[in-house]
Amino acid sequence: MSSRLASAILLAVCVAQAIVSATVDPDQADPTHHLSERWYHDENHSVHTLFRRGGNDGIIYSPIGSPDWAQGFPADPALMQNMPQAWLDALHAAIAAGKIPDIPVTTMGGPSPTYPDGYDPMSPNVCSSSYQCRIPGDIWDGPPGTLSLSFDDGPLPPSPTLYRFLKEKQQHATHFFIGSNILQYHDYFQTVWLDNQDDIAVHTWTHPYMTTKTNEEVLAELGWTMQLIHNSTGGRVPKYWRPPYGDSDTRVRAIAQEVFGLTTVVWNQDTNDWSLSDPVPLTSLDQIASQMHTWLTGPKTPGLIILEHELSDQSVQAFMSAWDLMVSNGWKIASVAQMGDVNAYQNAWNATSPVAPARIGEISIHPPPASPTPSLSHDSSSTHVAQSTGKPSPPHTNQKNSATDRSAASTMLTWLAIFVATITVCILS
Ligand SMILES: [Zn+2]
Repeated sequence: MSSRLASAILLAVCVAQAIVSATVDPDQADPTHHLSERWYHDENHSVHTLFRRGGNDGIIYSPIGSPDWAQGFPADPALMQNMPQAWLDALHAAIAAGKIPDIPVTTMGGPSPTYPDGYDPMSPNVCSSSYQCRIPGDIWDGPPGTLSLSFDDGPLPPSPTLYRFLKEKQQHATHFFIGSNILQYHDYFQTVWLDNQDDIAVHTWTHPYMTTKTNEEVLAELGWTMQLIHNSTGGRVPKYWRPPYGDSDTRVRAIAQEVFGLTTVVWNQDTNDWSLSDPVPLTSLDQIASQMHTWLTGPKTPGLIILEHELSDQSVQAFMSAWDLMVSNGWKIASVAQMGDVNAYQNAWNATSPVAPARIGEISIHPPPASPTPSLSHDSSSTHVAQSTGKPSPPHTNQKNSATDRSAASTMLTWLAIFVATITVCILS
């Protein structure tokens, strides 16, 4: 009898284990997926409350390019209008906490932004990147042996040629996009996001010299661009931004970091390729080819971060012409995130990985409606058209809710198994 009893108990335990294990989130069972379960910032960073993830957890974004998708985002003169209060609150909290240096805005009297008397752009408290002052934590160099591929100012009509080339070479890159260009050239955005699955980063909404902007204007330039990328990538929160013209300082950088969790990326080699399409260019394709040869055959420490643009057919050509040299010289060619083997988004590893779950108490921020139409609201339960990214749904979307459901089901089934085991034991006894 005792062996039958032991067998029955063993059987019941096995059944219980099988039932429970079948209901456990495979992400939790697989340590390689743990990164998908969390944000990459500390728990208290304000960015957690500023953006909400997409997918199937209550917010479904409008199809890219649709009127609802574009609604609420500002034209240039309206950049400051309808800015979500939560952004302003986060900015003011950061200022009150002493996290945003009180540096005056610059003026553009000459080739570089100018600070008022008494503010040295090379001093640690100002540290202007326009003057090549490097703030610790900002990215200027790559790890030894790496070549970071990044392209600024897109998406634009020359972009598809670049995207086809990158895809043909099976090469990922980081694209520092201008928010208003994403709105205008959403088809190209879809291509680089869906076909290339490249990393999307922030290059502001209107491409200004950022140190000339007030705190609130800096907030709007970054926030709107982040919001549009977030809404267009299944809820991914951008991690990197690059200041237009490389113009940042301790104040601008602190707003990006403290309010929005953004890391500043500059560069250590400049092709001046942005000027190729100008009436009087500062460089030529031959000159860029010569510079590329020097850099690509030179020392591999530090790694290269070359400033390149998807701004004109010529700038795209300058990159494509240098490709063979990049490969033949043995550089590890990667996006900014891949270069450091880190996450490309604050809440996701890359374009194809799951997005980290929303946190309890998160604020749902959507661009407010531009007209009285009641479409985009702050109510997370409001109905939106399904996102048509065409991207296969991540296997673990809706993680918070489904995790809760799984947990409840698991508990119930465990008790059921124990009940069955008890009955079995009673019968056998
Ligand atoms: Zn730019």
